[in-house]
Amino acid sequence: MAILPASNVTPMMRQYLELKEQNPDCLLFFRLGDFYELFFDDAVTASRELELVLTGRSCGMEERAPMCGVPFHAVDSYIDRLIAKGYKVAICEQLTDPAQSKGLVERGIIRIVTPGTVTDSSVLDEKTNNYVLSLYKNGPGKLGFSAADVSTGAFSLGEIEDDGQNTRLFEELSRIQPTEVIVSEGIAEDGSLMKRLKGAYYVYGYAKWAFDPETAKKNLLSHFRLADLSGYGCEGMTEGICAAGALLAYLNETQKNALEHINAISVYRRSSFMVLDEATRRNLELTKPIREGRSAKKTTLLGLLDRTKTAMGGRMLRGWVNQPLTDKRAINARLDAVAAFAEDMILRAAIGDALDKVYDLERLCSRLSYGTLNARDALSLKHSLSVIPSIKNDVLAAGHPALSAFAEKLDPLTGLHAILENAVAEDPPAVITEGGIIKEGYNGQIDELRQASTEGKDWLNKLEEAEKDATGIKTLKIGFNKVFGYYIEITKSHYALVPLRYERKQTLANAERFITPELKELEEKILGAQERSVALEYEVFASLRKLLTEHIDRIKNNAGLLAELDCYRSLASVAESYGYSRPKLTAGGRLSITDGRHPVVERSMTGFVPNDTLLDGGENRVLVITGPNMAGKSTYMRQVALITLMAHIGSFVPAKKAEIPLTDRIFTRVGASDDLSFGQSTFMVEMSETANILNNATAKSLLLLDEIGRGTSTYDGLSIAWAVVEYICDKAKIGAKTLFATHFHELSELEGLLDGVVNYRITARESGEDVIFLRKIVRGGTDKSFGIQVARLAGIPQTVIARAKEILRKLEAAEINRSVESKEETAPPRKYAAVLSELAAVKADELTPFEALGLLYDLSEKAREALCAAKPQ
Ligand code: ADP
Repeated sequence: MAILPASNVTPMMRQYLELKEQNPDCLLFFRLGDFYELFFDDAVTASRELELVLTGRSCGMEERAPMCGVPFHAVDSYIDRLIAKGYKVAICEQLTDPAQSKGLVERGIIRIVTPGTVTDSSVLDEKTNNYVLSLYKNGPGKLGFSAADVSTGAFSLGEIEDDGQNTRLFEELSRIQPTEVIVSEGIAEDGSLMKRLKGAYYVYGYAKWAFDPETAKKNLLSHFRLADLSGYGCEGMTEGICAAGALLAYLNETQKNALEHINAISVYRRSSFMVLDEATRRNLELTKPIREGRSAKKTTLLGLLDRTKTAMGGRMLRGWVNQPLTDKRAINARLDAVAAFAEDMILRAAIGDALDKVYDLERLCSRLSYGTLNARDALSLKHSLSVIPSIKNDVLAAGHPALSAFAEKLDPLTGLHAILENAVAEDPPAVITEGGIIKEGYNGQIDELRQASTEGKDWLNKLEEAEKDATGIKTLKIGFNKVFGYYIEITKSHYALVPLRYERKQTLANAERFITPELKELEEKILGAQERSVALEYEVFASLRKLLTEHIDRIKNNAGLLAELDCYRSLASVAESYGYSRPKLTAGGRLSITDGRHPVVERSMTGFVPNDTLLDGGENRVLVITGPNMAGKSTYMRQVALITLMAHIGSFVPAKKAEIPLTDRIFTRVGASDDLSFGQSTFMVEMSETANILNNATAKSLLLLDEIGRGTSTYDGLSIAWAVVEYICDKAKIGAKTLFATHFHELSELEGLLDGVVNYRITARESGEDVIFLRKIVRGGTDKSFGIQVARLAGIPQTVIARAKEILRKLEAAEINRSVESKEETAPPRKYAAVLSELAAVKADELTPFEALGLLYDLSEKAREALCAAKPQ
């Protein structure tokens, strides 16, 4: 909409247009009395998105300005809805009291709300961080990133190598899961990257100056009050610093508040954590169910492990699940702490009860910092602080070295607690401008004023009695309303008795209301006292808030320690309930699990069958797992990955015994069908995920490959699967520990051909028409698919099943004919080649006659096998 020259418009509209010009990308909520109004295009947008009535306001222009508005007391819910749709909202308030200002009320933007900077607890999940992320790139090389959660004060920075395809970038994004992303010019110019980012997040370009290395660094130093960044060990991380400095600038601009609660930098070093890509997180259902609509509590690893009592603990545990450690000492320290809680049921119960009383200290600190902490929040803070001394004592008294270190660091804050206890009323209202928030006995003046207003009630009662006597009107009563103040009310039938000194104020249908000079005097005393006591309460509360703000660091420090204790207690409690055991982390390459279970699947059923696993850098590098559909292959593979991951989190694991090698990454390539929603062909997705694995896996990685090559024709698929296994297994190339599930039973032939490959199958038994799943994994391959039996179990009609069997028989017959016709084309050539290459390698001169005979037996046996495989049986 064209906006006419500002000279024509009313002064208020001019004020509006100026503010709008400064915030062009926000919907401007302009405070007008009891409403926030939107104008012009903003009004059109908001009326559409919020289903508000679009009206108009004359503003000095030719046409009326489109306008719509929301009442001030309901503004939060409207803003939430707009934020959820990806809009930014600038809130403009009246900065001076309209009743007291001459002319135009002063107005200004007090805050800009964006998806990543919401602090309103009604939109935030208490156990999930809400991150805004900043990304910086300047030419090839490194990418800097920085993430902040303004609702908790979390702030981090890090760097990643630019790998050209942004694979690493998206791995980090999938770990952080930001709500909003701001980017530097270098990123904004990369069209394909922006497209990918915008597909998943709210992305905005941000001012170039803010990312400037000098400016960014200055910004960081001044915010964290540092002389240099060496204390955090990030002084050389130029790209990370650029991202972090710009992020702070963005937060300052949008929050317009002191960000006192952002008081520490956590520096992210990729090598300290296990790397997990988006596909792996999804496949292993770490925090989100694969299928939408299913409960995260019941289907995800986090849902299973999270028995935290506090919101901070919940967020910390989510962080742990999202980024398992790779440092053995750090992992063992966590395991020690879990073990201490696991063996001490009494302490676990006591700390659990105490933590139940702890509120979200981090978000309370955020409210302190924003100046929005109300008296109820102050009470929550008091209750939270009240249990810290007992937690500290209990943990110390229990004498577990692994936990004592935390307890030592807990700050009892008894002084602050005492102040809160004495100052804050027990049942305060949510607003802090109406009194009732300061406890009696805390401030003498408030008490006196309150007394004046309570005594005033006595005075009124006495006056009422006196007037009844004086006038002889028994029904006379003193009342109060907001417009007229105190009055004496007399019903119609007694009008004749009203004395002359009464001054008429208001006439009602059945009564008249009067005042007297005496009543007026009392009114002033009472109302004046009330007004002053409310104002004084506010003042006292504000200074209390200021005092608390000075202790944000100490409160937040406690929050972190309590969160950590909460996580250990939670993991120990899960371990106890489900019979987990402490894993042994090793630096060697051996993975050995005895009676392992899938932690989530076993909870959804009775009679889960435990299985063993042995993987190492030597003979048991690649397990080729065959077995009919539904046998339990995916479950088995995932259980190995989850046990490995849980061990790296510092959790006990669902197994009788587990020896887990330190693992740098877990890769999964599972069931292509789930990726359809991405709009790529399933085969393409499968191949690009496989490519990622082949390009990035190391000998320290754990690989899960499920049904590679299913998305294309059989021989194509088989050849690809075969070549992939060869490559992975090759120590010179990758040599990673791998679980490879496949329905190509031909792959069983790799055992013996390739060093490090062993066959396993998950057992099933045919029983007449049916198949019985035994769920036990055993050595050796399979050559049956049971596909039709499984189809039958799934309820496919009998006629279809019968027809399928007929077709299968025909196909098998045709297959046999074909392979007889062209023996060279199918898998058997592999076998021939193997026999031939063994023959070629024979150094006949060096063999004893006995060895030669043995070799001949051996080779002729293998040659027979190869021929058999090609012939009709
Ligand atoms: P596959 O990958 O071989 O098709 P899945 O791993 O998807 O099979 O397993 C199919 C179902 O079998 C699972 O949903 C689960 O209910 C059950 N199952 C798997 N493993 C076990 C086990 N070890 N014990 C009991 N039931 C199992």
